[in-house]
Amino acid sequence: SRLVGADADGDDQAVEAALRPKDLGEFVGQERVREQLDLVLKAARQRGGTADHVLLSGAPGLGKTTLSMIIAAEMGAPIRITSGPAIQHAGDLAAILSSLAEGEVLFLDEIHRMSRPAEEMLYMAMEDFRVDVIVGKGPGATAIPLELPPFTLVGATTRAGLLPPPLRDRFGFTGHMEFYAPAELERVIHRSARLLEVTIEPEGAAEIAGRSRGTPRIANRLLRRVRDYAQVKADGVITREIAGSALAVYDVDGRGLDRLDRAVLSALLKLFGGGPVGLSTLAVAVGEERETVEEVAEPFLVREGLLARTPRGRIGTPAAWEHLGLTPPQRGTG
Ligand code: ADP
Repeated sequence: SRLVGADADGDDQAVEAALRPKDLGEFVGQERVREQLDLVLKAARQRGGTADHVLLSGAPGLGKTTLSMIIAAEMGAPIRITSGPAIQHAGDLAAILSSLAEGEVLFLDEIHRMSRPAEEMLYMAMEDFRVDVIVGKGPGATAIPLELPPFTLVGATTRAGLLPPPLRDRFGFTGHMEFYAPAELERVIHRSARLLEVTIEPEGAAEIAGRSRGTPRIANRLLRRVRDYAQVKADGVITREIAGSALAVYDVDGRGLDRLDRAVLSALLKLFGGGPVGLSTLAVAVGEERETVEEVAEPFLVREGLLARTPRGRIGTPAAWEHLGLTPPQRGTG
């Protein structure tokens, strides 16, 4: 697992429970989603009913699980957490749905990765709070209708576009989660530092925020590594200097690139003059699998405007040359 990876690792899971905001007021940033969700939940509470189904789309680590827990808390309802890949058969889903309490929130992470039959069962459950459980096989199979208590489904996906339209249409509300601005990440870091009882100077928080790739999960993880360094190498206080030295030890540079990201950029610029170069050639030069370069390194490099994917191959942008402190070759103008 990577220090700057957005997926949760085992180490995160223990700490994340302690760092999760408990209500909408504590949840940093995402103003639009927060405001919209606040209305949805207030209206549901006033009606004394169950909140509409909610779809949250956005990259890993932006707070989708946290928001689903906040939805449950604000509705005073229990929450069940599962994920698309965990539901292999429609029967798995039927078992979960039929055991929900009235008003319960069901959080379904990676909802786009559910099996087809489960997905179809979910349509009916979302719309009519009913499922048909198929008993038996072949011509003798019968569908036994099962009434469900009203519940709120909170689905999470990396991109709403990955969902089949019939599923997408059954959500009353879709919230698009954006990457966080550095100032917002600073607030996340200050809040987490308080909870972890770490002293951090504003410049220290800014230094970590700038390297966190717009993602609170990464910010919290970097904060913990910097805390270790501050404790072992200094008096425990996180200053700009301590944060910078700590993250240099962990190979996370000023913009949040790690060793792999820099290896890809560096090969692209130094070996191929900034491209265009094909993905396979670039991968061989870095000594990595194609998929690793394409799926692990490139998305962030593209988002940062350091690398571009063109029909003729990958190219390094002027910002990439600048970031690595290199001078682009002078191209003849004819
Ligand atoms: P996702 O489900 O989108 O992968 P999580 O909800 O698990 O992300 O959030 C990852 C970590 O980041 C958690 O520890 C959570 O406390 C923190 N976090 C996410 N969003 C926020 C936010 N808006 N404010 C404060 N902390 C946040």
